[in-house]
Amino acid sequence: MPTIYRLLPECPDLDPLDLGLLAAVARGEARLTPEQGLALLECAPLHTLGRYADARCRALHGDHIRTYVIDRNINYTNVCTAKCTFCAFRRDATDQDAYTLEYDQLYEKVAELSAIGGTQILLQGGMNPELPLDWYLDLLAGLKERFPHIHVHGFSPPEFIEFVNFFDPPGATLEDKLRWVMVRLQQAGLDSLPGAGGEIFAPAVRTKIGLGKCTAEAWLTTMYVAHSLGMFTSATMMFGHIEGLADRVHHMRLVREWQDRALLDFGEGQIPESVRTDPSIKSPRTGGHYVSFISWPFQPDNTPLGRLKEWPQPGDLGDGGAGEFPGDAIARVDGSGTKDMHPEFGRRLRLAGSTAYLRTQAVSRLMLDNIYSIGSSWVTMGPHIGQLALHYGANDMGSVMMEENVVSAAGTTYCLDEPVLNHLIREAGFTPAQRDNVYDILKLNHGPDSPDLLVDDWSRHRAAKLAIHLEPKPSAALTVGATD
Ligand code: SF4
Repeated sequence: MPTIYRLLPECPDLDPLDLGLLAAVARGEARLTPEQGLALLECAPLHTLGRYADARCRALHGDHIRTYVIDRNINYTNVCTAKCTFCAFRRDATDQDAYTLEYDQLYEKVAELSAIGGTQILLQGGMNPELPLDWYLDLLAGLKERFPHIHVHGFSPPEFIEFVNFFDPPGATLEDKLRWVMVRLQQAGLDSLPGAGGEIFAPAVRTKIGLGKCTAEAWLTTMYVAHSLGMFTSATMMFGHIEGLADRVHHMRLVREWQDRALLDFGEGQIPESVRTDPSIKSPRTGGHYVSFISWPFQPDNTPLGRLKEWPQPGDLGDGGAGEFPGDAIARVDGSGTKDMHPEFGRRLRLAGSTAYLRTQAVSRLMLDNIYSIGSSWVTMGPHIGQLALHYGANDMGSVMMEENVVSAAGTTYCLDEPVLNHLIREAGFTPAQRDNVYDILKLNHGPDSPDLLVDDWSRHRAAKLAIHLEPKPSAALTVGATD
């Protein structure tokens, strides 16, 4: 995976719809300003966005190969101290269906993954105060002992911030404390960090939807510490709820700025001597940074946030004659919007449909000039929009999905096996390839023994839908109103 870093010039005086500007961005010769990014998201024709996001994607990844990974999403506990209003997965420790997986259950899941040629686990959970540091260290050591070939992509920034709160590590600053915990988990077997919990960074939105979850600054600082230790991470965004379009651009802007910082501070040859020579740090020889970005629309089922009234809208971005969407009224590309700027802010939803998703992903490809990979979110959008996303800036179809617990608790998600993923990529006009966690190609599926070309009966390979239907909790409904 090449590092892409060149400080690109901005052209703030150019009209964002200037095709020369968009062509320069697609070639990697210019950087969009946040204001230009917002204007594109608001009013560029959908196919113009697709055309230039696709051109940018092709400039980075070529015309032929689009990738996927075989990993498994393992949610080790659903007990969580936070009460995010968009979450249908969390439980209190006293709830009947609260769980924490036993080590043997976890090992069994990884063994199943290994048996189908998987290379990575995504290990995430709620923020469970009952689990001590040793529980994590022993788990990681046990995983590495049994499955040394499996990459452990685990523990998102909100989990790390709670580790700091739960374990009370030594250190004068949050960064010191995070580093103390992270080095130990890295030594035990943690390879990289997933970008979950990014949601929307703008404080007005974040404090409304992520009750008890870390701030954007803490999220970004956690990733910065991981980068300083040589780890690659991903970044995410969950949109299509109460946020404005400018909040999405502000989110991308912060990812881009912190990526600039990581690449400047930890890029090849710039890793601090103290880190490079510390024998306790596992992989600081190349600089850590964000390697991918994936965005997906909020799934409303079974969640307190999903019970907010929808803002009238004829299309994904229209206002249906109801006036300006409250989220747009307060959102600013510098994140300075405050909740008191509109009385209805946080009380109305604007769910994102297919075109809003494709527009947002395309703008992310154009804005995030220093991020290598953009992932398609077929898990929430379904296989065919996920496939179409390969022409709207995405180069990667993410993972063959063996199980999914978090998003499926909040609406329908999809499970696809390897032949179906290959088929979708090939049908979109590309050659499918299995990759590893750093986007190196493991297997190029262009011959007759490709997983999809071996299938003679597709009835056994349909996309499986996952959805969990829960009775709403009355107490959760109160939570939304209580965030004012
Ligand atoms: S989204 Fe994560 S942090 Fe928030 S309540 Fe759910 S499990 Fe907890």
